[in-house]
Amino acid sequence: MSQLQRIAIAPSQFQQGQILLTKEQQHYLGRVLRLREGDRFIAMDGKGKWWLSQLAGEQAQVLEQLLVETELPVSITLMVALPKGNGFDEVVRCCTELGVTCIAPVLSDRTLLHPSPQKLERWRRIAAEAAEQSERSFVPTILEPVAFNTGLSLVIGQLSFASSQQYICVARGEFPHLKNCLQHKGQMTNDRGQETIVIATGPEGGWTTQEVENAKSAGFQPVSLGRRILRAVTAPVVALSLITATCEV
Ligand code: SAH
Repeated sequence: MSQLQRIAIAPSQFQQGQILLTKEQQHYLGRVLRLREGDRFIAMDGKGKWWLSQLAGEQAQVLEQLLVETELPVSITLMVALPKGNGFDEVVRCCTELGVTCIAPVLSDRTLLHPSPQKLERWRRIAAEAAEQSERSFVPTILEPVAFNTGLSLVIGQLSFASSQQYICVARGEFPHLKNCLQHKGQMTNDRGQETIVIATGPEGGWTTQEVENAKSAGFQPVSLGRRILRAVTAPVVALSLITATCEV
């Protein structure tokens, strides 16, 4: 089943057991993938559902819903100060593969890049492609870039503290290692029945002292990712890897 081609579709394209394909999707299935009438493929709605489907002209017939179990048992929100250049593309791609739930790009005091509005669209497309490639059933949400302090209140506003852990990665200083702080008890849950972990990583120039203080006041614990100084693009990938290693059963 996993050998079948997969395409992402919007939930609104489902209508009574059929999928109404867009012109681009018809072109992709027919011309690029060379599927013919009656061939099967998997339609993913990016919200956790996969459907075994069969091509039928400009539509596809839904045959059955498939069970996918590639998601982590925890919900992970990554707050990441935008790195310079196209570095964020790589962060979105790798962290999607690693299982991130939500990415909140933030502008910190030392952020060098101020992204254009088209960037958000590009990042969302990269997340959808990476989710498809890594056979995830969810496409991570990419929020609009906001100032770090705004991001702190936004993310914190959505948390239930009983079921969440918040960490800010700080490159220098005597902080405990993230791997020694992470707890996966399997019993702390949010409304969707999941623990939430929020992790923040800084820009090339690092966080300012004030930013670390603000994060601490918002309930974040400063943590280390080891003795070496990682690049702004590497740090989120390492943090996510440690979380998946701890939480995946
Ligand atoms: N230029 C800064 C380092 C910035 S590294 C300096 O010399 O101090 C970019 C970001 O990656 C940091 O803000 C931090 O969030 C994360 N990071 C890099 N290495 C880390 C480490 N060893 N432990 C924790 N966080 C780290």
